[in-house]
Amino acid sequence: MNKFNLGDLLRSNIRAMKPYSSARDEYSGEAKIFIDANENPYGSEYNNPYNRYPDPYQLQLKEKISSIKGVPVENIFLGNGSDEAIDLLFKAFCYPYKDKVTLTPPTYGMYEVSAETNGTETIKILQTADFQPDVAKIKASISPENKILFLCSPNNPTGNCIEESIIVDMLESFPGIVVVDEAYVDFTSAASWTKKLDQYPNLVVLQTLSKAWGLANLRLGMMFASKEIISIINKIKLPYNLSGLTQEVVSKALDAEDKKNEYVQNILNERTRMVKELNELEIVQHIYPTDANFILAKFPNAREVYVHLLKHNIVVRDRSSQPLCEGCLRITIGTKQENDALIEAVKEL
Ligand SMILES: *Cc1c(COP(=O)(O)O)cnc(C)c1O
Repeated sequence: MNKFNLGDLLRSNIRAMKPYSSARDEYSGEAKIFIDANENPYGSEYNNPYNRYPDPYQLQLKEKISSIKGVPVENIFLGNGSDEAIDLLFKAFCYPYKDKVTLTPPTYGMYEVSAETNGTETIKILQTADFQPDVAKIKASISPENKILFLCSPNNPTGNCIEESIIVDMLESFPGIVVVDEAYVDFTSAASWTKKLDQYPNLVVLQTLSKAWGLANLRLGMMFASKEIISIINKIKLPYNLSGLTQEVVSKALDAEDKKNEYVQNILNERTRMVKELNELEIVQHIYPTDANFILAKFPNAREVYVHLLKHNIVVRDRSSQPLCEGCLRITIGTKQENDALIEAVKEL
């Protein structure tokens, strides 16, 4: 049985602390004269109210995201990329030099970097040969100090989804927070775990606008979780973690969901073509099944292929030093022309 208890899991100093209270926290109603936040009263260089602090809780933007994702506003945190959300989870739950988290390599590198910067030990449990979490070993890693399990589905760099039954098993047996990172959710037909938030109080789902939406430059990551977890994260975040400019531009971009769907459709079509064409090449030993906007491809000599592609001005990601990814390059699906250039360059080998 799951002994999840949010109060026990939280660092006691975080539970006790009083959050920073901004001028807009203390008064957010209408008024004619605002001289409470030490802002410049005259305006700014651009014909925009950039002299005023932005909404610290990004309510308008959250309402849009809420209707797109079908998740209530109170279950949403927005951050400066998903990377901010990952960092805040460590700050909320992990006592430096005492607590631990479980990672399942090969996976996204930021979990480990964030653990390091927050003085948190990582327990690394290698995935099985078919790139699934090793359930028995993860269960054996459970301890009162083990606060967070990071799962990534579809996984970076392997591209596949984690089996639904495995995630359910983890949510039911892991007594800490179970993070399901869905950065690539738009490229899979598998349903989002946000639909299960009501069922699992320890579930945290991460998504981002950096991939399918084409907004990596703007830095907008989303965390979906119980309203209790979200209010803890809101308490410890930097007061104005998203600029007004970001909120404004992202909000506009979200009105073009059709455009996002068109990007995704193009990427999926190109992905199908690339898998087929790469599979026909002798030098390609294996293409792993993918549910993401990239392909993991195995070569007899990945480094040689990597360097050859560089000579053609093509940069892919060499993942061959990752466990279970020996000989593998990770290739993002580009435009048709970019993909053609890659195929032509590989053909030369
Ligand atoms: C790209 C990626 C992210 C996105 O991070 P942002 O900070 O939102 O740009 C998150 N998780 C995984 C697994 C990724 O591959």
